[in-house]
Amino acid sequence: MNAVNPQFRSVIGMDLPELEQAVKPEPAYRARQIFEYVYTKRILDYDRMTSLPAALRQRLKADLPLGLPNVNQRFDSSDGTRRYLLDMADGRTIETVLMPQDDRDTICISSQVGCPVDCKFCLTALMGLERNLTAGEIVAQVLLVMEHNELAPGDRRLNLVLMGMGEPLLNLPNVLKATRLLTGVIGIAPKRITLSTSGIIPKMEELGKEAIRPRLAISLNASYEAQRREIMPITKKYHLADLMEACRRYPLRKDERLTFEYVLLKDVNDSDEDARRVVQLLGGLNCKVNLIALNPGPGIAYGTPTEERVASFQRIVREQVPCYLRKPRGRDIYAACGQLKRMSSQELVTVG
Ligand code: SAH
Ligand code: SF4
Repeated sequence: MNAVNPQFRSVIGMDLPELEQAVKPEPAYRARQIFEYVYTKRILDYDRMTSLPAALRQRLKADLPLGLPNVNQRFDSSDGTRRYLLDMADGRTIETVLMPQDDRDTICISSQVGCPVDCKFCLTALMGLERNLTAGEIVAQVLLVMEHNELAPGDRRLNLVLMGMGEPLLNLPNVLKATRLLTGVIGIAPKRITLSTSGIIPKMEELGKEAIRPRLAISLNASYEAQRREIMPITKKYHLADLMEACRRYPLRKDERLTFEYVLLKDVNDSDEDARRVVQLLGGLNCKVNLIALNPGPGIAYGTPTEERVASFQRIVREQVPCYLRKPRGRDIYAACGQLKRMSSQELVTVG
């Protein structure tokens, strides 16, 4: 069990034995009732848990917060994307993004406040790491967005991606606990959850051993060591060759494949030669590639390649490996990949 700082103790994030312990001296069946209200019925308000006695509701309200974050601001993009700026119990804020599409809905969740990995093209990196999120804070993002948008867990359209703020593999115990609750209790299939990493090799190995785990995406972003070091300094610690080796060793399940993400930076990693090198790196791997043209931001020194450049890159990779272009979602509200840096509406006006 993960010790949770009392400041962040909340129903959301607890498994049943933890909740039974937390409601004592109430009998265990009370814990089960609350558990079902929160995770199954998504009734996220003690006042609406009408099968609990009023006195108990009052006591719990004071003693055991549910742990639903406060929506500080919500931004709605012209393309349907919604960005939530959420207040945590300690006053820090994080972001969660809902991307409704024709054939599916994707919730992009954060795993840390900020991020310690210093990728040069990412706005979140500029914040540094403030802290890890608890399992409850990870699950709460999903429950909140589901409730606000009437999304159901069994719906095949619903997908979760751990691609918001933070490096999920540097907060693995909480991410795994959240995954167990999201899958086992809330009912989202593990194959509908994808975790994206900058390539923390030892943690990839740990993840591979887990019985219940999300699918794995690796932010490749470069076609050779020196180039990756320049844009992702973590490569100095975890070399590209070792990362590829770890990908080859990764215990993929039946009908599972790795995803490689590649942010295209104008005149840095977007040439046809880069595309050919990427194909070579990925040779023999059961995988697909998602390309994304840089989403620009203040303080980011790179440019976005032209559509023609992106198309040429994609054409080369696609000859060997399935390769898709990820459309930027919600750029107008700073909700796109790499743009999550807690921009408030005032800042949006300044940069927009
Ligand atoms: N930390 C994890 C997950 C969060 S970042 C990771 O790095 O994989 C999610 C994705 O956004 C990564 O693939 C990352 O390479 C990409 N990304 C970061 N900054 C970006 C930007 N400015 N434009 C486009 N994609 C970006
Ligand atoms: Fe962190 Fe991912 Fe941004 Fe890199 S791209 S700084 S790992 S959030």
